[in-house]
Amino acid sequence: MFDQEGAPVTDTASDYRLPKTVTPRRYEIRLIPDLTQFTFTGEESVAIVVNAPTQEIVLNALELEIDKVSVERGKATINGRAELDAKKERAIFRFDRALDPGGWTLHIAFRGILNDKLHGFYRSQYQDAAGKTHTVATTQFESTDARRAFPCWDEPELKASYKVTLVIDQNLTAISNARSESEEPSSIKGKKEVVFAETMVMSTYLVAFIVGEFEATAPVDAGTPLRVVHVPGKENLSGFAKEIGAFSLKYFANYYGLPYPGDKVDLIAIPDFASGAMENLGAITFRETALLVDEKTASRAEMERVADVVSHENAHMWFGDLVTMKWWNGIWLNEAFATFMEMLAVDKWKQNWRRWDSFSVSRAAAMAVDGLKSTRSIEFTVNSPEDARAMFDVLTYEKGASVLRMLEQYMGDEEFRKGISAYLRKHEYGNAETTDLWDALEASSKQPVRKMMDSWIFQPGFPMLRAEAGSDGKSIKISQRRFFLLPDDTENTQLWHVPLMIRAKTERGIVSKKIVLTERETSVALDGKVEWALLNEGGHGFYRVNYAPTLLQSITHNLSALQPIERFGLVSDTWAATVSGLSPLSEFLKMARLFTAETDLNVWRALLGAFNYLDMIVSDEDRPALAAEVRKIVGPAFARLGWEPKPGEDELTRQLRGVLIANLGTVGDDREIQDKAQKLYARWEDNPSIADRDIAPALVSVLAYSGNAARYEEFKKKFKSARTPQEEQRYLFSLANFRDKALLSKTMNMTLDGEVRTQNAPYLMMSVLMNNAGRYEAWDFIRSHWEEMTRKYPDNALPRMCEGIVALLDRQEEVTKFFHEHRVRLGGKIIDQHLERLAIAVNFRKREGKSLASTLKGS
Ligand SMILES: [Zn+2]
Repeated sequence: MFDQEGAPVTDTASDYRLPKTVTPRRYEIRLIPDLTQFTFTGEESVAIVVNAPTQEIVLNALELEIDKVSVERGKATINGRAELDAKKERAIFRFDRALDPGGWTLHIAFRGILNDKLHGFYRSQYQDAAGKTHTVATTQFESTDARRAFPCWDEPELKASYKVTLVIDQNLTAISNARSESEEPSSIKGKKEVVFAETMVMSTYLVAFIVGEFEATAPVDAGTPLRVVHVPGKENLSGFAKEIGAFSLKYFANYYGLPYPGDKVDLIAIPDFASGAMENLGAITFRETALLVDEKTASRAEMERVADVVSHENAHMWFGDLVTMKWWNGIWLNEAFATFMEMLAVDKWKQNWRRWDSFSVSRAAAMAVDGLKSTRSIEFTVNSPEDARAMFDVLTYEKGASVLRMLEQYMGDEEFRKGISAYLRKHEYGNAETTDLWDALEASSKQPVRKMMDSWIFQPGFPMLRAEAGSDGKSIKISQRRFFLLPDDTENTQLWHVPLMIRAKTERGIVSKKIVLTERETSVALDGKVEWALLNEGGHGFYRVNYAPTLLQSITHNLSALQPIERFGLVSDTWAATVSGLSPLSEFLKMARLFTAETDLNVWRALLGAFNYLDMIVSDEDRPALAAEVRKIVGPAFARLGWEPKPGEDELTRQLRGVLIANLGTVGDDREIQDKAQKLYARWEDNPSIADRDIAPALVSVLAYSGNAARYEEFKKKFKSARTPQEEQRYLFSLANFRDKALLSKTMNMTLDGEVRTQNAPYLMMSVLMNNAGRYEAWDFIRSHWEEMTRKYPDNALPRMCEGIVALLDRQEEVTKFFHEHRVRLGGKIIDQHLERLAIAVNFRKREGKSLASTLKGS
């Protein structure tokens, strides 16, 4: 799941929370989907408990027709009348007499549609090699869309078990959360009935039904049978996911100290999928790029994405599925944890990928949002479905995972693991709140976890620490203050419990200190004359550091004493200080030049991220000077690596080569690189077996950047005939990287004419917005097609597209006005955040635009 944020003022919880007069225990659901008419019919028997005498039953239903409803107890059956409240997304069943407290069975007959909005019970289509169209029916219920598939108590706390039957055409395959118990011919002609075993008790949002012409790999033993499921002809892309799937599932069972709670795991690739993947118990669904991959041709980055997502979803089988948040305000518990666990598992699986180091890039992305005035706290009020949808953002996932990692590193990993295991055991098959987790961790560690974590979970933002050498030369003075990217003149009193890991070099050697900063300011004695001091050892802290000039200089002169993740922090923190105006751009550029000898992929990502930002800010007139600066800094690093991998070179260095080529050939506008890229691409086209998988994506992006209409048509054809999901993605997104406005205009049209799946279209549009050769045309296109986009794109994706508005520096006023007039169907803050980022860019240009030009020219 992936998305963003908010809290409406007028809605209250009671508008959205169901009364608890009647609660469900067990659902028996029988569904008959029609894959040609895009409809379905269903019958449902729910074992319910009436908790107080009542004449009505209120539950959730949306876009459903109710044909019949009754309740039954013993020999008595009472028929009811159904009323639908579309606004509240509810069905109200009324009965002529009151139902006595105790157990009853509720019977409902209903009908619905297989929609094309990638939520609820929806249809997904694909073409086979012969061009024939096939339809799949599948589900996506999180957060609140189970109610579009069957009437239910659609709240995470109202857990029940599910016994599912799917009635489908003879030639199709059906999958649900539990294993299939029987498959028999149906009384309906040409159909069969697939009956699934009963599930454990779980929340409605985890239920899944998938129907289509699927193929499955032979199961592997992952403690439970695990398969990869896909549309026909893709088995050759399933091996990698099977491997990490089995590894991570076993790893988690061991880490949590609890066996997998279901009876099988299917990892299922769906042709149309709104988010990345969904942790339905035992029937995990994915978009194809996140599951199916050709190990022989995919780049390391593309494989890492598959490893990440598969591990993330597997981690949820316990954290989320077995133990669930009480309500959506606690979604961070699910998502931050799964993100944290995903890193642990992938890091364990491929240690040479140094996954926690590259997580720094995600941590910095979270800080970029959390440095806004329009950020929110990790745990945040949720009332409406729109609010819930808005919670799937970088603060829930990446900030949440970062603060957990910070805590884990501070507590010690085994103490942390023990606390987690105890927490899961205590709340299994139930629901929990954030405080329950802290209680478990306090019990295992005997440390005041709750107090420390409350400052991170319930407050928005994060601190920037200021570090200065003490006047005695043997200590450092540290103070904390909330960090804002826009100038802030309010009184700023927020404080955090900051776990500080300090490493310093004094006359006595290397000193390490671990303290918790709770005050505004403190002084730390280092017991000797300080040569240099680093505040965020290991880079795990969710804070930034601003060193006073002499301290900064002592560190930049000892870069080799820093781990790569610490050098990443240094670049990233200095850049953030630059954007916010705490330190001048000229200083950053001076520092960047010290990094020409840098060999670490992630440190380069931090540096190049800054140059990409400058490329967005710089005037067209000054862009060639910026490109020259990029060549000057990146060129030597690439020259050291060369085009050919060296024997014994590690995977990250191979990836770095691709990253440097991509940047030199685009932002650096390096003609030599562009020429060579063309020649190499042509050679690899003739002989794909000699292609370097980590350079190939870079070549596509460089060729698009410097490409003409013929190249455009070629890449478009490649997109349509791609053999793997990654190749398809690579060529599709290259269509947003061309510089010719007429070509970009074709790309924009593709986002609405059906040529591009709606799961990708908003992201493609965002890429055009971020392309400085077409950003304003892209904005005009969005304005004039806004209604159509709102109608066609999945609800979670439109706000994502709007992330691109940060690049619209010359139209700030117009953009702001537009979003005041056009509401995005999503809780409050995400658009405010995009607008604030735009304001920051405008501010930055105003402040540094001239000096950027003169620094570049003078250099
Ligand atoms: Zn997740």
